[in-house]
Amino acid sequence: MADSKHTRVLIIGSGPAGYTAAVYASRAMLEPVLVQGIQPGGQLTITTDVENWPGDTEVQGPDLMVRMEAHARAVGTEIIADHINSIDLSKRPFMALGDSGTTYTADAVILATGAQAKWLGLPSEEHFKGFGVSACATCDGFFYRGKEVVVIGGGNTAVEEALFLTNFASKVTLVHRRNELRAEKILQHRLFNNPKVEIVWDHVVDEVVGGDTPKGVEGVRVRHVQSGEVSEIPCAGFFVAIGHAPASELVKDQLETHMGGYVVTKPDSTETSVPGVFAAGDLTDHIYRQAVTSAGMGCMAALEAEKFLAENEAESAHGQAAE
Ligand code: FAD
Ligand code: NAP
Repeated sequence: MADSKHTRVLIIGSGPAGYTAAVYASRAMLEPVLVQGIQPGGQLTITTDVENWPGDTEVQGPDLMVRMEAHARAVGTEIIADHINSIDLSKRPFMALGDSGTTYTADAVILATGAQAKWLGLPSEEHFKGFGVSACATCDGFFYRGKEVVVIGGGNTAVEEALFLTNFASKVTLVHRRNELRAEKILQHRLFNNPKVEIVWDHVVDEVVGGDTPKGVEGVRVRHVQSGEVSEIPCAGFFVAIGHAPASELVKDQLETHMGGYVVTKPDSTETSVPGVFAAGDLTDHIYRQAVTSAGMGCMAALEAEKFLAENEAESAHGQAAE
């Protein structure tokens, strides 16, 4: 028979938002259950140096997330390796179904499902995914020792990926669609001063070029955005770093969303359009998208869930007393 589990607070997601919510909810004696999803630790597990987490001049992303998990566990969070594949927010208790077959019911839900890498959407990109096309330099950079690689994007991720790849590749070409980067100035400074890096401004990638025997990338076809002139950059690896989209698939038909799927929360709050459902971190934040802001929102969500439960439990006790 399939398992079922009831909790006062179900936290979905194990990035900085989820683990911080777990620490606060546990310390509020709410005995939360946290479901980790397929990426335990979230996005920071696919990066290396994190240099803006207060208290650590430099910390490895995966190490930081292991510490957050340990903290949540130590204060009493039940952490479950499962992935929620559907959720019903239409009535309380809310009900979520895990891939494991477990049904979770909860009096309040904190959604902290974060964001996922965006792809260009080219058929050739899809064809070579895992065969030279990647969205994770930390995961795949090692395969390009002594080879040439191309990175596309102009944000923090693209610049960090490009810099990381200089540890392995003989040359890193960053292709960007404008003539300035949106990445932090300190990262830009490092990029511009790295002799292995070339920047191709005002270009987009139209096609990933490669062969099938053996299957692999041989280059990318790029186009100048003003002149339309097409050229090819030879490379063995192509890294896509054009941003992230909120992981709101689970709830997009049940909660109000905006700006391409970000869950809407009330001003200065993590309350969503459904009472008792709170959203924190990159799932709801289209502006800052940082570990520290996600953690801050996780804290807010747990405090708001605590208040919501206290008010509801008081109301139902009052209702029963009046009967
Ligand atoms: P995420 O970290 O995205 O975690 C989402 C979690 O939800 C995951 O655990 C996933 O398994 C889980 N999940 C998703 N769907 C489900 C589901 N259906 N069921 C159960 N669980 C689910 N920020 C910084 O401040 N400093 C940095 O140096 C920095 N470097 C970065 C480098 C890279 C390469 C990237 C991609 C991002 C970086 N960021 C950095 C941004 C930072 O990682 C994010 O802002 C932060 O991780 C968001 O936290 P989150 O908790 O909202 O979600
Ligand atoms: P981002 O800031 O949204 O940048 C995406 C980049 O990709 C932009 O330069 C954008 O170009 C480009 N782009 C988007 N769609 C494209 C397309 N179809 N074709 C070509 N180029 C395209 O995303 P991100 O760099 O992944 O960062 C996401 C968030 O995580 C940010 O808030 C960032 O600060 C945070 N983060 C922080 C750190 C850090 O603190 N060290 C590290 C990584 C990420 P335009 O510039 O023209 O829009």
